[in-house]
Amino acid sequence: MNDSSRPTWCDIDLAALERNYRAIEHLVGASKMMPVIKADAYGHGLIQVASRLEDIGAPRLAVAYVEEGLALRAGGITVPIQVLGGAVARQIPLFLEQELTFTAPSVDKLLQIDEAAKAAKTTAKVHLKIDTGMERIGVHHYNADTLFDTALRCTSLEIEGVFSHFASADDNDLRSARLQLERFLEALKFYDDHNLPTPTRHMANSAAIVALPEAHLDLVRPGLLLYGVEPIEQTSHIVTVEPVLSWRSEVIYFKVVEAGNSIGYGGTWTPENSTRIVTLPVGYADGYRRGLSNRAQVLINGNRHNVVGRVCMDQTMIDIGATSAYNGDQVVLVGSDGINNITIRDLAQWSDTIPYEILTSITARVPRRWQP
Ligand SMILES: *Cc1c(COP(=O)(O)O)cnc(C)c1O
Repeated sequence: MNDSSRPTWCDIDLAALERNYRAIEHLVGASKMMPVIKADAYGHGLIQVASRLEDIGAPRLAVAYVEEGLALRAGGITVPIQVLGGAVARQIPLFLEQELTFTAPSVDKLLQIDEAAKAAKTTAKVHLKIDTGMERIGVHHYNADTLFDTALRCTSLEIEGVFSHFASADDNDLRSARLQLERFLEALKFYDDHNLPTPTRHMANSAAIVALPEAHLDLVRPGLLLYGVEPIEQTSHIVTVEPVLSWRSEVIYFKVVEAGNSIGYGGTWTPENSTRIVTLPVGYADGYRRGLSNRAQVLINGNRHNVVGRVCMDQTMIDIGATSAYNGDQVVLVGSDGINNITIRDLAQWSDTIPYEILTSITARVPRRWQP
Protein backbone atom coordinates (compact mmCIF):
# COMPACT_ATOMS: atom_id res chain seq x y z
CA MET A 1 0.00 0.00 0.00
CA ASN A 2 1.40 3.41 -0.89
CA ASP A 3 -0.66 5.55 1.46
CA SER A 4 -0.04 6.27 5.11
CA SER A 5 -3.19 4.64 6.48
CA ARG A 6 -3.23 2.09 9.24
CA PRO A 7 -2.32 -1.41 8.08
CA THR A 8 -5.47 -2.88 9.64
CA TRP A 9 -8.81 -1.84 8.20
CA CYS A 10 -12.33 -2.85 7.21
CA ASP A 11 -13.65 -2.58 3.67
CA ILE A 12 -17.37 -1.86 3.50
CA ASP A 13 -18.89 -2.83 0.17
CA LEU A 14 -21.94 -0.60 -0.21
CA ALA A 15 -22.85 -2.19 -3.55
CA ALA A 16 -23.16 -5.53 -1.72
CA LEU A 17 -25.36 -3.81 0.87
CA GLU A 18 -27.59 -2.60 -1.95
CA ARG A 19 -27.81 -6.08 -3.48
CA ASN A 20 -28.69 -7.55 -0.08
CA TYR A 21 -31.39 -4.93 0.37
CA ARG A 22 -32.88 -5.83 -3.02
CA ALA A 23 -32.70 -9.55 -2.28
CA ILE A 24 -34.57 -9.15 1.02
CA GLU A 25 -37.06 -6.73 -0.55
CA HIS A 26 -37.77 -9.33 -3.24
CA LEU A 27 -38.16 -12.08 -0.65
CA VAL A 28 -40.71 -10.19 1.46
CA GLY A 29 -42.82 -9.12 -1.51
CA ALA A 30 -45.55 -6.73 -0.42
CA SER A 31 -44.06 -6.06 3.03
CA LYS A 32 -42.19 -2.82 3.41
CA MET A 33 -38.57 -2.57 4.53
CA MET A 34 -37.27 -0.89 7.69
CA PRO A 35 -33.50 -1.57 7.76
CA VAL A 36 -32.08 -1.66 11.28
CA ILE A 37 -28.92 0.42 11.50
CA LYS A 38 -28.35 0.67 15.26
CA ALA A 39 -24.85 0.32 16.73
CA ASP A 40 -23.14 2.18 13.90
CA ALA A 41 -25.03 0.02 11.39
CA TYR A 42 -23.60 -3.10 13.05
CA GLY A 43 -20.14 -1.60 12.72
CA HIS A 44 -20.53 -0.69 9.02
CA GLY A 45 -20.86 3.10 9.49
CA LEU A 46 -24.13 4.76 10.49
CA ILE A 47 -24.22 7.66 8.05
CA GLN A 48 -22.63 5.87 5.09
CA VAL A 49 -25.05 2.96 5.37
CA ALA A 50 -28.06 5.21 6.00
CA SER A 51 -27.23 7.43 3.01
CA ARG A 52 -26.98 4.46 0.69
CA LEU A 53 -30.23 2.98 1.98
CA GLU A 54 -32.00 6.30 1.64
CA ASP A 55 -30.64 6.69 -1.92
CA ILE A 56 -31.97 3.28 -2.96
CA GLY A 57 -35.42 3.98 -1.59
CA ALA A 58 -35.60 2.57 1.93
CA PRO A 59 -38.86 4.10 3.14
CA ARG A 60 -37.75 4.23 6.79
CA LEU A 61 -34.89 3.29 9.08
CA ALA A 62 -34.65 2.01 12.65
CA VAL A 63 -32.13 2.60 15.44
CA ALA A 64 -32.00 1.60 19.10
CA TYR A 65 -31.34 4.92 20.83
CA VAL A 66 -32.44 8.49 20.30
CA GLU A 67 -28.77 9.55 20.07
CA GLU A 68 -28.44 7.42 16.96
CA GLY A 69 -31.49 9.10 15.47
CA LEU A 70 -30.04 12.53 16.24
CA ALA A 71 -26.75 11.56 14.60
CA LEU A 72 -28.67 10.53 11.48
CA ARG A 73 -30.55 13.83 11.34
CA ALA A 74 -27.28 15.74 11.88
CA GLY A 75 -25.87 13.70 8.99
CA GLY A 76 -28.65 14.87 6.70
CA ILE A 77 -30.86 11.77 6.69
CA THR A 78 -34.48 12.80 6.18
CA VAL A 79 -36.51 9.55 5.95
CA PRO A 80 -38.63 8.52 8.94
CA ILE A 81 -36.50 6.99 11.70
CA GLN A 82 -37.98 4.80 14.42
CA VAL A 83 -36.19 4.56 17.75
CA LEU A 84 -36.84 0.96 18.79
CA GLY A 85 -35.83 1.36 22.42
CA GLY A 86 -37.99 3.14 24.95
CA ALA A 87 -37.65 6.90 25.34
CA VAL A 88 -36.42 8.29 28.65
CA ALA A 89 -38.85 11.03 29.71
CA ARG A 90 -36.27 13.83 29.62
CA GLN A 91 -35.37 12.90 26.03
CA ILE A 92 -38.89 13.11 24.63
CA PRO A 93 -38.37 16.71 23.38
CA LEU A 94 -35.40 15.55 21.30
CA PHE A 95 -37.67 13.17 19.39
CA LEU A 96 -40.15 15.94 18.70
CA GLU A 97 -37.52 18.46 17.60
CA GLN A 98 -35.93 16.03 15.14
CA GLU A 99 -39.13 14.27 14.05
CA LEU A 100 -38.06 10.85 15.23
CA THR A 101 -40.65 8.10 15.53
CA PHE A 102 -41.38 6.93 19.06
CA THR A 103 -41.71 3.46 20.47
CA ALA A 104 -44.32 3.44 23.25
CA PRO A 105 -43.70 0.40 25.44
CA SER A 106 -46.14 1.29 28.22
CA VAL A 107 -49.33 3.22 28.94
CA ASP A 108 -47.39 5.71 31.08
CA LYS A 109 -44.87 6.43 28.38
CA LEU A 110 -47.62 6.83 25.81
CA LEU A 111 -49.32 9.45 27.98
CA GLN A 112 -46.03 11.27 28.56
CA ILE A 113 -45.40 11.42 24.82
CA ASP A 114 -48.93 12.70 24.23
CA GLU A 115 -48.51 15.42 26.88
CA ALA A 116 -45.17 16.53 25.48
CA ALA A 117 -46.48 16.62 21.91
CA LYS A 118 -49.51 18.62 23.02
CA ALA A 119 -47.28 21.13 24.83
CA ALA A 120 -45.10 21.43 21.75
CA LYS A 121 -48.21 21.86 19.55
CA THR A 122 -47.19 19.00 17.35
CA THR A 123 -48.19 15.41 16.59
CA ALA A 124 -45.91 12.60 17.69
CA LYS A 125 -45.55 9.53 15.48
CA VAL A 126 -45.73 6.44 17.63
CA HIS A 127 -45.37 2.68 17.30
CA LEU A 128 -46.91 0.68 20.14
CA LYS A 129 -44.75 -2.13 21.52
CA ILE A 130 -46.41 -5.40 22.48
CA ASP A 131 -44.49 -8.02 24.44
CA THR A 132 -45.43 -11.47 23.15
CA GLY A 133 -42.82 -13.48 25.02
CA MET A 134 -39.50 -11.67 25.02
CA GLU A 135 -40.15 -10.17 28.48
CA ARG A 136 -38.11 -7.11 27.61
CA ILE A 137 -39.92 -3.84 26.87
CA GLY A 138 -43.54 -3.65 25.79
CA VAL A 139 -47.02 -4.19 27.19
CA HIS A 140 -47.88 -7.87 27.65
CA HIS A 141 -50.03 -9.21 24.83
CA TYR A 142 -52.74 -10.11 27.36
CA ASN A 143 -52.93 -6.43 28.42
CA ALA A 144 -52.54 -4.91 24.95
CA ASP A 145 -56.12 -3.62 24.92
CA THR A 146 -55.33 -1.09 27.64
CA LEU A 147 -52.50 0.34 25.53
CA PHE A 148 -54.66 0.39 22.38
CA ASP A 149 -57.55 1.99 24.30
CA THR A 150 -55.34 4.66 25.81
CA ALA A 151 -53.87 5.43 22.39
CA LEU A 152 -57.36 6.09 21.04
CA ARG A 153 -57.92 8.72 23.73
CA CYS A 154 -54.65 10.57 23.05
CA THR A 155 -55.07 13.66 20.91
CA SER A 156 -51.52 14.57 19.91
CA LEU A 157 -50.39 11.19 18.63
CA GLU A 158 -50.42 9.45 15.30
CA ILE A 159 -50.38 5.70 15.98
CA GLU A 160 -48.50 4.68 12.90
CA GLY A 161 -47.51 1.15 13.88
CA VAL A 162 -47.81 -1.72 16.32
CA PHE A 163 -44.94 -4.13 16.75
CA SER A 164 -43.46 -7.00 18.68
CA HIS A 165 -40.13 -8.80 18.73
CA PHE A 166 -39.14 -12.47 18.51
CA ALA A 167 -37.03 -14.07 21.22
CA SER A 168 -36.15 -17.26 19.36
CA ALA A 169 -36.75 -16.91 15.64
CA ASP A 170 -33.24 -18.26 15.06
CA ASP A 171 -34.07 -21.50 16.86
CA ASN A 172 -34.39 -24.77 14.95
CA ASP A 173 -37.61 -25.28 16.82
CA LEU A 174 -39.96 -22.50 15.76
CA ARG A 175 -42.83 -23.35 18.12
CA SER A 176 -42.20 -20.49 20.53
CA ALA A 177 -41.76 -18.04 17.64
CA ARG A 178 -45.07 -19.20 16.14
CA LEU A 179 -46.73 -18.80 19.53
CA GLN A 180 -45.41 -15.24 19.76
CA LEU A 181 -46.78 -14.45 16.31
CA GLU A 182 -50.15 -15.95 17.27
CA ARG A 183 -50.30 -13.84 20.42
CA PHE A 184 -49.46 -10.71 18.44
CA LEU A 185 -52.18 -11.33 15.85
CA GLU A 186 -54.66 -12.16 18.59
CA ALA A 187 -53.94 -8.84 20.34
CA LEU A 188 -54.37 -6.98 17.06
CA LYS A 189 -57.96 -8.22 16.75
CA PHE A 190 -58.77 -5.21 18.92
CA TYR A 191 -58.75 -3.06 15.78
CA ASP A 192 -61.09 -5.27 13.76
CA ASP A 193 -63.35 -5.70 16.76
CA HIS A 194 -63.64 -1.91 17.03
CA ASN A 195 -63.96 -1.39 13.29
CA LEU A 196 -60.76 0.60 13.28
CA PRO A 197 -57.97 0.48 10.72
CA THR A 198 -55.03 -1.60 11.99
CA PRO A 199 -51.77 0.36 12.22
CA THR A 200 -48.71 -0.95 10.36
CA ARG A 201 -47.87 -4.33 11.91
CA HIS A 202 -44.26 -5.48 12.21
CA MET A 203 -42.43 -8.25 13.99
CA ALA A 204 -39.83 -9.94 11.77
CA ASN A 205 -36.10 -9.64 12.43
CA SER A 206 -33.59 -11.30 10.09
CA ALA A 207 -34.18 -14.84 11.34
CA ALA A 208 -37.95 -14.52 11.01
CA ILE A 209 -37.62 -12.94 7.57
CA VAL A 210 -35.85 -16.12 6.48
CA ALA A 211 -37.55 -18.80 8.55
CA LEU A 212 -41.08 -17.53 9.17
CA PRO A 213 -42.61 -15.91 6.07
CA GLU A 214 -46.01 -15.65 7.78
CA ALA A 215 -44.37 -13.12 10.13
CA HIS A 216 -43.48 -10.66 7.35
CA LEU A 217 -46.77 -8.78 7.95
CA ASP A 218 -46.72 -5.13 6.76
CA LEU A 219 -43.11 -4.27 7.48
CA VAL A 220 -39.90 -6.19 8.19
CA ARG A 221 -36.90 -5.11 10.28
CA PRO A 222 -33.76 -6.69 8.79
CA GLY A 223 -30.45 -6.10 10.56
CA LEU A 224 -27.88 -8.87 10.36
CA LEU A 225 -29.14 -10.25 7.03
CA LEU A 226 -28.77 -6.86 5.37
CA TYR A 227 -25.07 -6.91 6.22
CA GLY A 228 -24.75 -10.27 4.51
CA VAL A 229 -24.47 -12.45 7.59
CA GLU A 230 -26.85 -15.37 7.76
CA PRO A 231 -28.94 -15.29 10.95
CA ILE A 232 -29.29 -19.06 10.86
CA GLU A 233 -27.28 -21.63 8.98
CA GLN A 234 -28.21 -22.69 5.48
CA THR A 235 -30.33 -19.76 4.45
CA SER A 236 -28.95 -19.40 0.93
CA HIS A 237 -31.73 -21.45 -0.65
CA ILE A 238 -34.20 -18.88 0.67
CA VAL A 239 -32.30 -15.67 0.09
CA THR A 240 -28.77 -15.04 -1.10
CA VAL A 241 -26.84 -12.29 0.63
CA GLU A 242 -23.16 -11.37 0.48
CA PRO A 243 -20.91 -10.15 3.28
CA VAL A 244 -20.66 -6.36 3.23
CA LEU A 245 -17.69 -6.12 5.59
CA SER A 246 -14.24 -7.59 5.18
CA TRP A 247 -11.39 -7.10 7.60
CA ARG A 248 -7.74 -7.08 6.59
CA SER A 249 -4.36 -6.51 8.07
CA GLU A 250 -0.72 -6.82 7.01
CA VAL A 251 2.32 -8.75 8.11
CA ILE A 252 4.50 -6.35 10.07
CA TYR A 253 7.07 -8.72 11.56
CA PHE A 254 8.61 -12.09 10.80
CA LYS A 255 10.70 -14.33 13.00
CA VAL A 256 11.78 -17.93 13.35
CA VAL A 257 10.88 -19.46 16.71
CA GLU A 258 12.88 -22.45 17.87
CA ALA A 259 11.21 -25.62 19.13
CA GLY A 260 10.09 -25.41 22.75
CA ASN A 261 9.91 -21.61 22.99
CA SER A 262 6.41 -20.47 23.93
CA ILE A 263 4.66 -17.59 22.27
CA GLY A 264 2.96 -14.55 23.77
CA TYR A 265 1.43 -13.73 27.16
CA GLY A 266 1.19 -16.73 29.40
CA GLY A 267 3.10 -18.86 26.91
CA THR A 268 -0.03 -20.71 25.85
CA TRP A 269 1.39 -22.19 22.63
CA THR A 270 4.72 -23.85 22.13
CA PRO A 271 6.02 -25.13 18.77
CA GLU A 272 7.28 -28.72 18.72
CA ASN A 273 9.54 -27.92 15.83
CA SER A 274 11.20 -24.72 14.76
CA THR A 275 8.57 -22.62 12.92
CA ARG A 276 7.97 -19.25 11.31
CA ILE A 277 5.85 -16.73 13.12
CA VAL A 278 4.47 -13.48 11.74
CA THR A 279 2.95 -10.67 13.75
CA LEU A 280 -0.13 -8.65 12.76
CA PRO A 281 -0.97 -5.15 14.03
CA VAL A 282 -4.41 -6.09 15.31
CA GLY A 283 -5.60 -7.08 18.77
CA TYR A 284 -8.49 -7.25 21.14
CA ALA A 285 -8.59 -3.45 21.46
CA ASP A 286 -9.56 -3.48 17.78
CA GLY A 287 -12.25 -6.05 18.42
CA TYR A 288 -10.14 -9.03 17.38
CA ARG A 289 -11.25 -10.81 20.47
CA ARG A 290 -8.99 -12.48 23.00
CA GLY A 291 -11.27 -15.51 22.77
CA LEU A 292 -9.80 -16.09 19.30
CA SER A 293 -6.44 -17.00 20.89
CA ASN A 294 -5.18 -20.38 19.67
CA ARG A 295 -8.48 -20.92 17.82
CA ALA A 296 -8.87 -18.54 14.90
CA GLN A 297 -7.36 -18.77 11.46
CA VAL A 298 -6.35 -16.06 9.01
CA LEU A 299 -5.58 -16.14 5.28
CA ILE A 300 -2.14 -15.16 4.03
CA ASN A 301 -1.51 -15.49 0.30
CA GLY A 302 -4.73 -17.46 0.13
CA ASN A 303 -3.67 -20.07 2.69
CA ARG A 304 -5.12 -20.73 6.12
CA HIS A 305 -2.83 -20.24 9.10
CA ASN A 306 -3.47 -20.47 12.82
CA VAL A 307 -3.49 -17.72 15.40
CA VAL A 308 -1.03 -18.95 18.04
CA GLY A 309 -0.58 -17.71 21.58
CA ARG A 310 -2.90 -15.19 23.14
CA VAL A 311 -4.26 -12.33 21.10
CA CYS A 312 -2.71 -9.20 22.65
CA MET A 313 -4.29 -5.78 22.92
CA ASP A 314 -2.57 -4.54 19.75
CA GLN A 315 -0.82 -7.51 18.16
CA THR A 316 -1.52 -11.08 17.13
CA MET A 317 0.90 -13.86 16.19
CA ILE A 318 0.37 -16.35 13.35
CA ASP A 319 2.15 -19.65 12.73
CA ILE A 320 3.01 -19.88 9.03
CA GLY A 321 4.96 -23.13 9.40
CA ALA A 322 7.37 -23.63 6.54
CA THR A 323 5.66 -21.18 4.19
CA SER A 324 6.84 -17.68 3.37
CA ALA A 325 5.35 -14.29 4.15
CA TYR A 326 6.93 -10.87 3.95
CA ASN A 327 6.34 -7.57 5.69
CA GLY A 328 3.49 -5.84 3.92
CA ASP A 329 1.79 -9.06 2.76
CA GLN A 330 -1.97 -8.73 3.09
CA VAL A 331 -3.75 -10.84 5.71
CA VAL A 332 -7.46 -11.62 5.66
CA LEU A 333 -9.10 -11.70 9.09
CA VAL A 334 -12.62 -11.76 7.60
CA GLY A 335 -13.25 -12.14 3.89
CA SER A 336 -11.99 -14.22 1.03
CA ASP A 337 -8.67 -14.76 -0.69
CA GLY A 338 -8.72 -17.15 -3.61
CA ILE A 339 -10.86 -20.16 -2.78
CA ASN A 340 -10.58 -19.68 0.96
CA ASN A 341 -12.95 -17.62 3.00
CA ILE A 342 -13.33 -16.59 6.65
CA THR A 343 -16.73 -15.41 7.77
CA ILE A 344 -18.08 -13.38 10.66
CA ARG A 345 -19.84 -16.58 11.71
CA ASP A 346 -16.45 -18.36 11.84
CA LEU A 347 -15.07 -15.70 14.18
CA ALA A 348 -18.18 -15.95 16.32
CA GLN A 349 -17.85 -19.73 16.56
CA TRP A 350 -14.14 -19.61 17.36
CA SER A 351 -14.70 -17.13 20.17
CA ASP A 352 -17.93 -18.62 21.54
CA THR A 353 -20.18 -15.71 20.72
CA ILE A 354 -22.69 -14.58 18.08
CA PRO A 355 -22.03 -12.76 14.79
CA TYR A 356 -23.76 -9.65 16.15
CA GLU A 357 -21.17 -9.29 18.89
CA ILE A 358 -18.26 -9.77 16.48
CA LEU A 359 -19.55 -7.05 14.12
CA THR A 360 -20.37 -4.55 16.84
CA SER A 361 -17.08 -5.16 18.65
CA ILE A 362 -14.84 -3.93 15.84
CA THR A 363 -13.74 -0.69 17.43
CA ALA A 364 -13.35 2.83 16.08
CA ARG A 365 -9.57 2.27 16.02
CA VAL A 366 -10.07 0.20 12.87
CA PRO A 367 -10.54 2.55 9.91
CA ARG A 368 -13.46 1.78 7.59
CA ARG A 369 -13.08 2.22 3.83
CA TRP A 370 -16.38 2.53 2.06
CA GLN A 371 -16.58 1.31 -1.52
CA PRO A 372 -19.49 2.77 -3.48
C1 LIG B 1 -31.92 -5.24 16.46
C2 LIG B 1 -33.35 -5.40 16.20
C3 LIG B 1 -33.79 -5.93 14.97
C4 LIG B 1 -32.86 -6.48 13.91
O1 LIG B 1 -32.46 -7.78 14.28
P1 LIG B 1 -31.62 -8.71 13.32
O2 LIG B 1 -31.62 -10.02 13.97
O3 LIG B 1 -30.26 -8.11 13.22
O4 LIG B 1 -32.31 -8.71 12.00
C5 LIG B 1 -35.16 -5.95 14.74
N1 LIG B 1 -36.02 -5.50 15.67
C6 LIG B 1 -35.63 -5.02 16.87
C7 LIG B 1 -36.64 -4.55 17.85
C8 LIG B 1 -34.28 -4.97 17.18
O5 LIG B 1 -33.89 -4.51 18.37
